[in-house]
Amino acid sequence: MNSPAYADLTTALRRNHLLGTMGDLLGWDEQVNLPPGGAGQRAAQMALLAELGHAAASDPRIGGWLHELEAGRATLTADEQVVVRQARRDFDRVTRLPAEFVREKATLVSEAYHAWAQARATSDFPGYAPFLEKHLELAKREAAFLGRADAPYDYFIDQHDPGLTAEVIGRLFAELKKELVPLGRAILASPVKPRTDALRGFPVEGQRAFLREVTERLGFDYQRGRIDVALHPFCSGTGADTRMTTRFNVDEPLDSLFSSVHETGHGLYEQGLPAAEAGTALGMHAGMAVHESQSRLWENQVARGRDFWRCFEPRFRALFPVQTAAVSSDELYLAINAVAPTLIRVDADEVTYNLHIILRFELEKKLFAGELAVRDLPEAWRAASRELIGLEPANDREGVLQDVHWSGGAFGYFPSYCLGNMMAAQLWYAALAALPGLEEDFARGDFSRLLGWLRTHVHAEGRRYDLLALVRKVTGEELSPGPLLRYLRERYGTLYRA
Ligand code: ZN
Repeated sequence: MNSPAYADLTTALRRNHLLGTMGDLLGWDEQVNLPPGGAGQRAAQMALLAELGHAAASDPRIGGWLHELEAGRATLTADEQVVVRQARRDFDRVTRLPAEFVREKATLVSEAYHAWAQARATSDFPGYAPFLEKHLELAKREAAFLGRADAPYDYFIDQHDPGLTAEVIGRLFAELKKELVPLGRAILASPVKPRTDALRGFPVEGQRAFLREVTERLGFDYQRGRIDVALHPFCSGTGADTRMTTRFNVDEPLDSLFSSVHETGHGLYEQGLPAAEAGTALGMHAGMAVHESQSRLWENQVARGRDFWRCFEPRFRALFPVQTAAVSSDELYLAINAVAPTLIRVDADEVTYNLHIILRFELEKKLFAGELAVRDLPEAWRAASRELIGLEPANDREGVLQDVHWSGGAFGYFPSYCLGNMMAAQLWYAALAALPGLEEDFARGDFSRLLGWLRTHVHAEGRRYDLLALVRKVTGEELSPGPLLRYLRERYGTLYRA
């Protein structure tokens, strides 16, 4: 269709997207460069930009163009329909929430964050509970504004991963849990123990040089991105200008390396999205879980694998001859794939991480269904932690108060991490089948065939497909925990003789 409404709509979407990228840049700068005295002005800059962004995104003309295009839907191409559908979702979300409600929620987010930080410091859940109760109430109201009063939890899940529901996730997670819990226990009982103290005293300069070489070799384009140091690793920006961060600890060289490779996976996805379509659904990532599948695939299946280290171990040893002298290749590989249950999600290894997510998902689901009261959360958390991870937190700081997410009203977000792990494993086996000899490439330091395959089958599609449809299209199978379980058994079952 050659419609002026479509051209007008996409022009507006691109402008709004550009405004968004400015906000990203200010946010990145705040975490990387901002002198402390600039914090007040930065907050004002970001608030102004958010206001401009909201005004632009709720411009009534967008509603008019959408109305016109939807009336003539039959004349739109398939791609145009994708763009219009996403634009409708976004427009409804910014226009259906009353300004008063948005203000109320913003205030609560700020108050709840401080209450959470305070409660966590003193392990005082009751002091934080009223804020969480209020968040749940607002969440239900928000879903109602968007016409989802019947299924508020599904509404939030759909915000992160379009098309998914608690019912589908519940089925996938139940299947995963059944085999993952015994695998975790068997690894824990294994006589094979990684030496956690083996890698100490790695100068930052060497670490920086090594991760630059690694990320460049994986295919990250430094002409369109950079990596800097921040308190928490993250990846922001777009394919045209991708900003990643990492942090260095001389006694934890693998932490910095793997978090950088993780962010590189996110960055490669952003750099692979169709640049000409930036701002529309065709140039947009397909959801949080798909994004996470990209970071996890590079971090885990690729960079924790034997063949990757066949290539990079000599370089690692050359850069750190003294620090690695007493560490054998097998010990190094075991340290790279260390599994040890922990109470804290962000410290969890690749095997038990998924159990932390299942725990959170099951509790969120019960909170929304009214089957669990906020005041009973700490006890429910302890029971679930015993059942799933085999450890019980001694206090709420190591339990229900450990994550920041709920204090920001971010419900339905946790499942994306585990769904991303599932998708990563499923993509991995599909890529191995499609690209014979792929791992021999890695041993030679060549990752281009894998990246090319992901570019074609995942990145180039933008948001044409949701998670379930994309997995079906790329792998020919429904999303399932089977490939993740197979991968974990192949790598960790073997390594730990479990
Ligand atoms: Zn990530």
